[in-house]
Amino acid sequence: MVAVVPIPVVGNRRSADELAPGVGRTGCAYRGAVDHDDAHGLTAFIREIDDWPEPGVSFKDLTPMWADARAFAAAIDQLAEHFVGRGIVKVVGMEARGFVVASPVAHRLGAGFVPVRKPDKLPWDTHAEHYELEYGTDHLEIHRDAVAPGERVLIVDDVIATGGTAAATVQLVEALGGQVVGLGFIVELAFLDGAARLGAHEHHSLVRYR
Ligand code: AMP
Repeated sequence: MVAVVPIPVVGNRRSADELAPGVGRTGCAYRGAVDHDDAHGLTAFIREIDDWPEPGVSFKDLTPMWADARAFAAAIDQLAEHFVGRGIVKVVGMEARGFVVASPVAHRLGAGFVPVRKPDKLPWDTHAEHYELEYGTDHLEIHRDAVAPGERVLIVDDVIATGGTAAATVQLVEALGGQVVGLGFIVELAFLDGAARLGAHEHHSLVRYR
């Protein structure tokens, strides 16, 4: 039996001030966003790649943030801190970039991690939901025993764009009887209004592009 001891999330371990512009930069190449909310100073670690993976998409590359120990920890701590004390027992992350963010958030909250994956990746009995991407369509799967009825669940992804992935994940969790407490994202492309697809579910984003 593994004893689960939730680790208190403390704001002073890596404060947002430490990441204010001009402090502790890694020198990564990025193009500054001109119209966004960034209360946590994380934008400097987001590289924008225009017309990737296809024309018209401005891809928000978070790998510079993940490669910087302080920025990565600050992002994870701030997401976890928002949902601490809410009785969350499972954190669900979506393949593949969502795994990078959801797993450490689960650890910080003393919760378990559940992967939501692309088709035919999970080895056991699955439930599936179809969804639309900003650039394409697909469907997602979850193990049928990954969330028990009544369990309080947080859904975490790196970016919410059109909200299709997040909405499909809400449906996956609710189909298993899980209770979606909220959704957390590092980046929200608010101009795509993906949050509108989340219904009444609370969501929290660290960086919002308007
Ligand atoms: P969506 O279903 O449209 O909300 O898309 C969300 C998923 O696609 C997330 O898992 C992101 O990793 C990825 N994604 C979509 N658009 C972008 C973008 N412009 N920049 C970075 N990631 C994106």
